[in-house]
Amino acid sequence: MGNADLRNEIPNLTSKLIQIPSVNPPGLTADVANFIRDWLSAHGFSSSVYEYARGKPNIIAKVGSGRPVLILNGHMDVVPPGDETKWTHPPFSGRIIEGRVYGRGATDMKGGLAVIMTVFAELGPLIEGLGSGTLIFSATADEEVGGHAGVEALVRDGVLIGDAAVIAEPSGPTRYYIGEKGLCQVRIVARGKPAHGSLPILGDNAIMRLIRAVGRAEELINEFNRTVKVPSELVEAIRNSAEAYMEAAGALGVKLSLNDFERVIATVSFNPGVVRGGSKVNMVPDYAELELDMRVPPGVSPSQVIELLRNGLSGLAEVEVMDTSEPNYTSPSERIAQLVHEGIERVLGARPRPMLITGATDGRYLRARGIPTIVYGPGELALAHAYDEYVSVEDLVRVHDVLNYVVRRFFGIT
Ligand SMILES: [Zn+2]
Repeated sequence: MGNADLRNEIPNLTSKLIQIPSVNPPGLTADVANFIRDWLSAHGFSSSVYEYARGKPNIIAKVGSGRPVLILNGHMDVVPPGDETKWTHPPFSGRIIEGRVYGRGATDMKGGLAVIMTVFAELGPLIEGLGSGTLIFSATADEEVGGHAGVEALVRDGVLIGDAAVIAEPSGPTRYYIGEKGLCQVRIVARGKPAHGSLPILGDNAIMRLIRAVGRAEELINEFNRTVKVPSELVEAIRNSAEAYMEAAGALGVKLSLNDFERVIATVSFNPGVVRGGSKVNMVPDYAELELDMRVPPGVSPSQVIELLRNGLSGLAEVEVMDTSEPNYTSPSERIAQLVHEGIERVLGARPRPMLITGATDGRYLRARGIPTIVYGPGELALAHAYDEYVSVEDLVRVHDVLNYVVRRFFGIT
């Protein structure tokens, strides 16, 4: 198959990937993995399987040898389709209509997978002929539930190690993600003393304690946020992200200022998500708890936030850690960031926008290993996990053209 044919086949390839369900949970990726292996093999490439959890294989294919090493990555699992009657086109139809490919995973991220499979197949033979340089294609499992049996394990085992990486999660053709916020989820636990509800002075009300503790926690975070300073090289990315989130929120009728969005991105966010406590209206409760979700920007560590809350709430409530991850980013001055930036400018003639996102991707595992990582792929973040998810054929082709340019430039292929 010639390269022009491969490029023209991207929408069909996306459609075929969508038609193989890989819903997570349970996140079984064997069928998609087999399809990808067969496709690679039909184009002349062998691949290896790494399975860290039963039924969740990861696929790795390599061309060339020696350094530099560039990793292309995409995840194979998708989130559940939800209520299938709410889909205009069935979620696993992969229907291609009026320039769009529809289905669960179209945007997040079977479209991106199809693009990097294509770039790998197009440029593989050229990289094979280089004196030195390795391109790694990786299709991984488990991203939607934390990447533990996918990218995290592959990086730990030294399988996914390189000089730079591109993850084709949806950013859209002119935006790219250089970093993401970290996660700090804690449980605030208040304990009291039970008594009859008609004589509350005999007890110690855990719900009232919890309310005071949560109010205090919010004050502590607000105070702390006044001292937070994100690295100066991220200021532009934060501005771009604020614009993008404001645009998306505006389309839904939410009217907030650019400043509001900049603040929520560049500081520690505060969201009590679950509250439990008490058992009867006429009893003084002796236990109450609240689950708090905070996202921390680069420059702040979750451990700082936990210590702040533990000290500030001592004597009032306990703070238990549920889940944390460090914020992370790749400097805009890294070569891979500059190549993606340049590719968007030169290939698309568009203004490139680096961004910092509020959620987490598998990029965190690569960056934690010191691998400069850019997230760039077809689709729109707003469509990920939505009903009638789609990716436009135009996005697929534009991102393909940019990534083809990036990989060529990375290896010095003209
Ligand atoms: Zn994704």
